[in-house]
Amino acid sequence: MKVLVIEDAVTSATVVCNWLNNVGLTSFHAYTGEEGLEMFKRERPDLVLLDIVMPGMDGFEVARQIREFEREAWTPIIFLTARTDDRDLQRAIEAGGDDYLIKPVSEIVLRAKISAMRRMAQMRDSLRDTKRKLQKANRDLRRLSAIDGLTGIANRRCFDDTLLREWRRCSRSLQPLSLLVIDFDLFKLFNDHYGHQMGDECLKIVARTLEETTQRPNDLVTRYGGEEFAAILPETSAEGAQAVAEAMRVGVENLKIDHAWSTVSSVVTISVGVASLVPPRDEEAGIPALIKAADDSLYRAKESGRNRVDVATEVTIPLPEPEAAPASRRA
Ligand code: GH3
Ligand code: MG
Ligand code: MG
Ligand code: MG
Repeated sequence: MKVLVIEDAVTSATVVCNWLNNVGLTSFHAYTGEEGLEMFKRERPDLVLLDIVMPGMDGFEVARQIREFEREAWTPIIFLTARTDDRDLQRAIEAGGDDYLIKPVSEIVLRAKISAMRRMAQMRDSLRDTKRKLQKANRDLRRLSAIDGLTGIANRRCFDDTLLREWRRCSRSLQPLSLLVIDFDLFKLFNDHYGHQMGDECLKIVARTLEETTQRPNDLVTRYGGEEFAAILPETSAEGAQAVAEAMRVGVENLKIDHAWSTVSSVVTISVGVASLVPPRDEEAGIPALIKAADDSLYRAKESGRNRVDVATEVTIPLPEPEAAPASRRA
């Protein structure tokens, strides 16, 4: 434990420092308030013993500046002074002091007070430690609540949040927003033939491949539900989105995961529906229309043979329902 003694009287300082050293504490001594503050910042002591009357900056000001400097932390300060007026004690506590001892002080009293302060400092440290652990747990929770347990990629909840955020962002910047809906072809047959566990393994591997296919930092691949995935591609045109979708389709095909019962291919394949638009301002109600357009595209990809990409030609946002006509007043 490091103790900083700020005291202009040499004899008094020497006595106190000797006591401290005798009980195994490390002491530093400053003769003025200014020097004391500098030493405080440099040495970061665990405790400060502070005189009030000193040439230049007095102890009250030193205490205030220490509190100002520390902000988050709290180093105990014990005033050690010849002044006996109650109002000085009051000012010392108000300036940030934790205790107030009147000189001459006995070695026993000083040691007892230091023990008490040390106990408080330990409590403060364990509180800070707990706070840090809580903050980390909160961060982990937030992260986990956005992650799909099976595949480890973003989940449906994260999809909803991200789509709304990117919709707003793209509507402000007048940039296109693209959505990919990705569905395994004949996956029920895969499960039927290889078992559900193999099905789960297949979902994990494909999820990783889909993620690896997207390049930009704001692209997000999510597990939309079951064997369906969705990718949000902000600031991406329909052509760009189509290219990403095709890269995903080829990437999954190239994994060459056997799918003996598939009528589409001998390996696992996906179909992808793509929809793209520049989100109109203040039209968040249009989000379902974007999702439906991608879904409809996916349906067409399935209908026209699977293992392919279909791009929606246009996304139309339905007009808001007209407001209910006011009830007719009776004459
Ligand atoms: P289609 O090409 O028309 O999409 O055929 P499909 O068999 O993939 O479509 P369908 O919707 O009939 O079946 C989806 C299947 O996906 C049902 C289920 O067996 C499987 N599936 C959904 N979620 C999971 C999952 O979490 N794990 C596993 N192993 N299989 C899943
Ligand atoms: Mg003095
Ligand atoms: Mg399917
Ligand atoms: Mg499906």
